[in-house]
Parts: sequence; C-alpha cells; structure tokens
Amino acid sequence: MPTTLVVGGGLIGTAVAWRLAQRGQHVTVVAGDPGQAASGVAAGMLAPLTESAFTETALLALNLDSLRRWETFAEELERVSGLPSGLHRTPTLSVAGGTDDAARLRDLGRWLDDRGHPCRWLTSRELRGAEPLLGPSVRGGLLVERDWSCDNRRLWTALRVAAERLGVRTVTGTVLAVEHEDGRATGVRTEDGQLLAADEVVIASGAWAGGHGLPFELPVRPVKGQVLRLSAGRLPRLAHTVRAFTQGSEVYLVPRSDGEVVVGATVEEQGFDARVTAGGVYELLRDARQVVPVTAEYELSECRVGWRPATPDNAPVLGPTPLAGLTVGVGMYRNGVLLTPLVADVLAGWVDDAHLEPVATPFTLERFAS
Ligand SMILES: Cc1cc2nc3c(=O)[nH]c(=O)nc-3n(C[C@H](O)[C@H](O)[C@H](O)COP(=O)(O)OP(=O)(O)OC[C@H]3O[C@@H](n4cnc5c(N)ncnc54)[C@H](O)[C@@H]3O)c2cc1C
Repeated sequence: MPTTLVVGGGLIGTAVAWRLAQRGQHVTVVAGDPGQAASGVAAGMLAPLTESAFTETALLALNLDSLRRWETFAEELERVSGLPSGLHRTPTLSVAGGTDDAARLRDLGRWLDDRGHPCRWLTSRELRGAEPLLGPSVRGGLLVERDWSCDNRRLWTALRVAAERLGVRTVTGTVLAVEHEDGRATGVRTEDGQLLAADEVVIASGAWAGGHGLPFELPVRPVKGQVLRLSAGRLPRLAHTVRAFTQGSEVYLVPRSDGEVVVGATVEEQGFDARVTAGGVYELLRDARQVVPVTAEYELSECRVGWRPATPDNAPVLGPTPLAGLTVGVGMYRNGVLLTPLVADVLAGWVDDAHLEPVATPFTLERFAS
C-alpha cells in the first residue's frame, strides 16, 4: 500500500488525507498547533462571485468549479462522518454605503453579467425588504444567489472524523525539512528529530509553507486577518451573508445557524504578528454597526487573528514540484474554505494516479519559474 505524509492538518491537509485514504492509501498527517490554522479562524464564505477581482478570470473559473463540487462533497462528508458539514445555502447581499461604493458594485455586477453570472441589483428599499436588519445608510447592492457560506469549524471536525474512520493517523509535530535523495522526496524531519519516511509527501501547511527548507522557492507569505465572533442571543438574527463597502473599506457579516455572526476582517501585511489590536477591533465593530445596527447589541464572544496563505498572484499553488514525490496544495489565500473540495480531489488524483485535472494546470508552481 503506498504511504503518504501530509504536512499540515488544516482544512486542506485533512481533506486531501481523507480523499487519499478513500483511494486506499496509507496516510499520516503531521500537524503543528491546530489553534494557529487559518481553517479555524476563517469566516467561511463560499463566494467566488463577490470575491472576484476584474483581473482574476482564471481564479474565478477555479473558484466556481469548486463551488459546483460543494453540494455533493458536503452530502458525502455528512454521510460518512455522521456530522454536519456546515454548508449553508443562504445567498449573499453585497451592499454599498456610499455613491462611489455603489458605482463600484454596479461595475462588478456588469462584469459578472458579461461572464454569464447575472446578479440582481436591489434598491435600498428592496434590500431592506430582503434583510430587515440592514441600516438606513445602505444605498443599494447586489443579490448573489449562489455565493453561500459554510461553518468552517463544523466542516473541519467532520473532515477529521471522516479521515480517522478510514485510518488516517495524525502525528502532532513541526516539520523542519523535507528529506530528499536523487531528486525524490523520501519523507520529513520533525523538530524533535524524528525522520518519517514515505513514498509521497504533500505540503499543505498554509501560510507556513514557505519555510520547510525546500531546494526551490515556494512563494507563500502570511497575510494577517483579525476577525470577530458576535452572538445574537435572543436578538433578531441576520438571514443573509452581508458584505458591505463603506467609504472604500469592506466589512462582512456571516451568520451561522446558532445565532453567531462572524465579522471580518482586516487585511494586514504584518508577517506572523499575532496581536489583536484596538484599532482592528474598533474598525470592524464600527463598520458592522453602520451596516447592521443591531450588532452593537450582540455579545462580543471572540477576537482572533489568522494568517491567509498568500502568493504573488493571489492564486493557489497546486500539484507537482521540482522534487518527484513532493506535491503542494498551498496558497489558498482568501478562498481556502471554498476551494477545499476541489483541492482535495485535484491533489488526491495527482498523488495517487499522476493525473492532474485540467482545471488545475494554470495553478502549478511552474508559473513562477521565470
Ligand atoms: C481572517 C480570515 C478570514 C478568512 N475567510 C475566508 C472565507 O470567508 N472563505 C474562504 O474560503 N476562506 C477564508 N479564509 C482563508 C482560509 O481560512 C484559508 O485559505 C484556509 O483555511 C487555508 O487552509 P490550509 O489548510 O491551507 O491552512 P491552515 O488552515 O492555516 O492550516 C495549516 C496547517 O499546517 C500546520 N503547519 C504549519 N507549519 C507546519 C510545520 N512546519 N509542520 C507541521 N505542520 C505545520 C499548521 O499548524 C496548520 O495546522 C480566511 C482566512 C482568514 C485568516
């Protein structure tokens, strides 16, 4: 039976491990502190359309492909784990706080329309009809039916259980280096001096992926995000994910089924700075209150920092590397929850069958070679 070591036990590492075990592989996940993983901090939007940028058409296609896999992925995961996947099929309202913000959103709507993804423009009155908790400052916005969300913490738990049921073993530890010989990866060396051998190694270590002493550059850096969790308690609850542009800055509010609302997020080039700052929290709460005033009455239950794994072109790095037997699934940046089903399928197909799905070919490491 082929043996595979997966470095990193976040959503990506766990989902890849599960898919590989389904193919009959003997899989071990080597994972550092789960409390640091972006997978437990993220807001969980599955938002290929409202996340898209005008220049990123290839990434939009990849993100949409992953969204198409979500329903069957979630159904299968729920069946085998016996747990909720966290998927919420609630639409997103992308709303504008000012005239400039509205112009920008209308541009995005037209751009998406031109690519076959029509979004409806709603006036402020129509928006408040759909989502009565929106405040009076909202000028109008897009209703995006297929930008959903997922409770990423539930998803992660279900994936761990599904992987364990198929025999995936987890070793707690920090990988210092990937061992290799004659151009082929042979295993990993951990901080406590263990040498773990394997036929294949998969790097899924999120924002830390650039630091495994590899004989080539893996251009991944951490982008800090501060994020808050509020509890509605007995107060009225949001029905939609709301993303709001107010005077150029963006805030999003993602409701969970239990009344929690995730409010995010700052975007900071601060390396692995772990501080929750007064300014970061203040701005998120201020913007959230402006868009959905009742949030000021909610309980503030959590303030966290996470690190998005970013690359120079904001797109992931998937598949082969210059070392035979070493595969990467890193750089998911702002879309790692959304991309989980696709990346798990793509990497399992590559590691187990040497088949790289065509949708992933623009996203290999080779694109940075020049
Ligand atoms: C504030 C914020 C909001 C976000 N919101 C969204 C969203 O709404 N929608 C969305 O799709 N995405 C979102 N993301 C992005 C998403 O969280 C990430 O892209 C995704 O979680 C990355 O998953 P991962 O498994 O690659 O990395 P991680 O979840 O970071 O996991 C990496 C794992 O590798 C381990 N590790 C690291 N180094 C080593 C080592 N040397 N040895 C062993 N193990 C190691 C870590 O301990 C960790 O377990 C958000 C991210 C942040 C920070």
